Amino acid sequence: MERRNFVAALLLGLSLISGVVRAQDNPAESPLENTRYIDSLSLSAGNFPQKLIKVNDQVYIISQSPVAGNIGVFLGSSGVYLIDTQWATLSEHVKKLLGSITTSPIKAIINTHYHYDHTNGNLAFGPENIPIVAHINTRIRMMERQVIRSHKNEVQLPYPTHALPTVTFTDKLSFHEGNETIELLYFKNAHTDGDVVVHFKESDIYHTGDIFVWYGLPVIDAETGSNIFALIEALDTLLARADDRTQFIPGHGPLCSKKELLAYKNLLTSIKEKVEVLHNQNRPLAEIIKKTQVLLDPKLHGISREKFITQVYRMVKSNRIDQKNPYSPRGQIKSKN
Ligand SMILES: [Zn+2]
Repeated sequence: MERRNFVAALLLGLSLISGVVRAQDNPAESPLENTRYIDSLSLSAGNFPQKLIKVNDQVYIISQSPVAGNIGVFLGSSGVYLIDTQWATLSEHVKKLLGSITTSPIKAIINTHYHYDHTNGNLAFGPENIPIVAHINTRIRMMERQVIRSHKNEVQLPYPTHALPTVTFTDKLSFHEGNETIELLYFKNAHTDGDVVVHFKESDIYHTGDIFVWYGLPVIDAETGSNIFALIEALDTLLARADDRTQFIPGHGPLCSKKELLAYKNLLTSIKEKVEVLHNQNRPLAEIIKKTQVLLDPKLHGISREKFITQVYRMVKSNRIDQKNPYSPRGQIKSKN
């Protein structure tokens, strides 16, 4: 870890601790809700350098590992498309990087889901009247206070109107730019209830949002009704659409191929199947965690193994109860008219 990254991580750790202390000072606020996490990360985000990576003549990645989702960039004939927006504090730097490859303005922004590390930059880009496109559930979640309990119990406050998605859809949406078709596909309850995968069809490049991450064990936002079954199903769909030349920009991590996508799916499937077998034998959770952990590479990053296996256990358990409708979108928000 570089020194400045180490310092940023240390500061983040300190702010996390202070966030918990503050919550405990206020009995009305649950100690399990971390109200400082997102602000702290936003302030430290500048300590992690952004990199511009070329995928082809029209598609680029702005990557800022590990504290922000990958921005996908598409250089269209009439303007630039941005997929996700990282942090508002870094928006000027994003513009500088874009300025090194094009003089065109940003024509549209696509949010892959509601999580702050993919949408915080809307706060800077929104007031510029750039259309922001997202699934309807993403817009509704961003209008309301969220607590991301599947990660660090961080509180995401409602976004102001100027930073909300302005164009929403429910199933599928396409943009046509010269020879390229940009297809937005909705995958229900794989990571959140508003996940959008963006497919540049001619180039055969996907930006997967956080349905696919290449850093280790993922967050599955169970509060939104998301679950490991729907996640594996979504990965199967993507694998079936891909061939050896297909490229994947993950929500986090480097540019990947079908090979990495398959490895990721196999990792999740092996965990799910092990938990299912032990659950069917009525083994206690502590034993399930212990026996599933040993399958995993000790170097695997991401959320803690114990937390992840516990979450999968709960999903397996509720799936068994809910046999008739195993992938029911329990957390899916209904549009409020
Ligand atoms: Zn996410």
